[in-house]
Amino acid sequence: MQPLKILFLSAEVAPFAKAGGLADVCGSLPKALAALGHDVRVVMPAYAPIEASYHSGQGTIRSHPVTLQVPMGYGTVPAGVLEATLPGSKVPVYFIAEWHRFASRAFFYGYWDDPQRFAFFSRAALDLMIAALGWRPDVIHAHDWHAAPAVTWLATAGQADGRYANIPTVYTIHNLMHQGTAPWEIFHDMGILTHGLKEEHYGEVNWMARGIYHATMITTVSPTYAREIMGWEGGSGLDALLRHRSFDVHGILNGLDYEVWDPTRDPHLVAPFDAARLDQRQHNKRVLQERFRLPQRDDLPLVGMVTRLDRQKGLDITGHVLHLLLNNFAGEAQCVVLGAGAQHYVDMLEHLAGYHRDRLSIFIGYDPGLAPLIYGGSDLFLMPSLFEPCGLGQLIAMRYGSLPVVRATGGLADTVRHGVTGFTFQYYSSDDCWNALKEALYIYHVDRESWQAMQRTGMANDYSWVSSARAYQQVYEWAIARVRGW
Ligand code: ADP
Repeated sequence: MQPLKILFLSAEVAPFAKAGGLADVCGSLPKALAALGHDVRVVMPAYAPIEASYHSGQGTIRSHPVTLQVPMGYGTVPAGVLEATLPGSKVPVYFIAEWHRFASRAFFYGYWDDPQRFAFFSRAALDLMIAALGWRPDVIHAHDWHAAPAVTWLATAGQADGRYANIPTVYTIHNLMHQGTAPWEIFHDMGILTHGLKEEHYGEVNWMARGIYHATMITTVSPTYAREIMGWEGGSGLDALLRHRSFDVHGILNGLDYEVWDPTRDPHLVAPFDAARLDQRQHNKRVLQERFRLPQRDDLPLVGMVTRLDRQKGLDITGHVLHLLLNNFAGEAQCVVLGAGAQHYVDMLEHLAGYHRDRLSIFIGYDPGLAPLIYGGSDLFLMPSLFEPCGLGQLIAMRYGSLPVVRATGGLADTVRHGVTGFTFQYYSSDDCWNALKEALYIYHVDRESWQAMQRTGMANDYSWVSSARAYQQVYEWAIARVRGW
């Protein structure tokens, strides 16, 4: 096929700014698409650490000569541009630098004016690439609600300007829970005249709903999540709108960056290993036990968790499961948890750890150096999510020979095969989760051969970005064909 010009718009791009899986996708997928021969460019906001890195002159971020005058309200707002490339590639990344909206804030999100900030970002990104640089993409790939204002503007006001008219858009939902709502005045600021959607309260704009409504094609990050969000339970109020567009919604699994997540040369492991040298994992397990101040016992199964401490991740059913595990209801076992997030989950874990000092150890915080040791040193990886658009934890665990115990929801249902590469349970309950974990521990104790066969099957899975990138390429082609009327 013809090489395409593809513009990525995202609030997070690893390694420049990462809060979750969105950043991993937007840091990896452009490289995989570039490897297929496409011209991919990425635009994101210049948050405080990015501007700091530029001003320090230490990193690779440089300034770009363009100054933008972004149309907003009755006038324009000036914005600068920084640029860099995605590490290990030639994919350009442009940063919209507007101090008041981005660099003056301590974090990426969490402010009352987030919907306005990202509306500005979206409009500025289009202005930069198309008006200022004259680079008209064949397709625009917008990610999550932060980039939905671009999709909305292009489908409405943008159609009146020949430079922007008829550009196909692909909108990817990474997490339907976060929707971004703003007062209707935001449409005045952006010069958009349109009607309300049934999903929007009177006088309110819902950016997530707008992205779904206006995009040429919609994708989400796993086939099962695509189905789940079309139902009442998983739809976060937007299920009817998604059903309305169901023929244009596609689920494409995220890949894993195999350059980063490779147990044969991960610098954070004390003993790198592959499927033929599984015995090496024992060394990692011992160091993991030492780091978490647990007894260095080879004979005990070690359960690991690396997670945001958030309702989504199934923490509400985890407490009782840990209680049973640590009270030896399935024999002696150890557990380590690395996580950051809501205080009530921290309290729960600390409470349990207080009772079981030699069995459960927790580390509260975000530590990318410690996570690989958990994947490469634990025997089981627990991920009992309430919902999970795709999930990377289980993919990494399988690649690192730790068998995942997961709830069969979203991407977890699509990637973990019960009894083949891990263990799954259906209902969101401690009982169901415990049964799956108990079954896993039973096999661990009585059938080492099957256990190792499962480890090897999981490690041989191919969840690299190559096949996902081809699937996105197909969706781009469909979007282009739709707009050009082929
Ligand atoms: P989500 O994006 O919903 O948080 P994913 O499973 O898709 O969940 O991705 C989580 C990623 O973040 C994984 O790479 C995981 O290792 C990492 N991670 C999560 N919490 C921590 C933590 N406390 N410390 C280090 N890495 C973490």
